[in-house]
Amino acid sequence: MNLKSTFLSILSITALLTGCVTTQPEITNNNFNSTLWVQTAAEYEANAIQAYNSAESNIDVALRDKSWTAALEQGSNYSLKPPAIILDIDETVLDNSQYQAQLVLDNEQFNPETWDDWIAMESAPAVPGAVDFINSMENLQVDVIYITNRECMARTVGGPECPQEEDTIDNLLKVGIVDVDPEQIFLKGEQPDWTSEKQTRREVVASNHRIIMLFGDDLGDFLPDVKDDITPEERSELVEEYSEHWGRKWFIFGNPTYGSWESILSGPKSEYFRGLE
Ligand SMILES: [Mg+2]
Repeated sequence: MNLKSTFLSILSITALLTGCVTTQPEITNNNFNSTLWVQTAAEYEANAIQAYNSAESNIDVALRDKSWTAALEQGSNYSLKPPAIILDIDETVLDNSQYQAQLVLDNEQFNPETWDDWIAMESAPAVPGAVDFINSMENLQVDVIYITNRECMARTVGGPECPQEEDTIDNLLKVGIVDVDPEQIFLKGEQPDWTSEKQTRREVVASNHRIIMLFGDDLGDFLPDVKDDITPEERSELVEEYSEHWGRKWFIFGNPTYGSWESILSGPKSEYFRGLE
């Protein structure tokens, strides 16, 4: 009896014993293992350093080749514009796994209030490799722009307009990034058309820069229209369509804890889960 038939026999016996034959139960995802991987796996650290090292080794050619652009929003006549890189912040520059871990411990889901409390703590450590890479951009006179879905909204009446921006700048400075200014940070909601879809913000950066590299942990940090009404297969086709960009112009970080990879799944997640067939 081979492995597959043994496995199917066990499943059949289990089904008989439990009286459960057809419907698969929804598998609860409490993020324990995903967060544990981020917090303990040397492989996570190596993966992040690999991305930043790959970017570093490509930066010279990106600067020299004035036709080089990483942004689909770049348009024309960009060769003489000053070079810039665009980075997402969460799980790309700052590691929020402690927040995710606390959600698991408290058996809670993400919500904007606890997320805001976490941002106000300004305590997120840096993603491995991020600080040295970002600081090295200053010597090369590459502008560093952060496009983040941290949000611009007042916490209190009459208080700062964008307190998450102030907290984020303080957090970035604490982990060792030098010279972070508000003009470098494009928050969700900072302008009326700056939604969680990042395309409009990339267009603004592209209007006065040559965007040479993009960094993120979500497909939406690189491509428009990948966070709603799309299937995993369609997203996979987009990744393949732009296969030349990955590791050269686009640098992505593994994030198993949350993201549009998960939010686009419609219906029970177990319907997407594949065992032996
Ligand atoms: Mg992110």
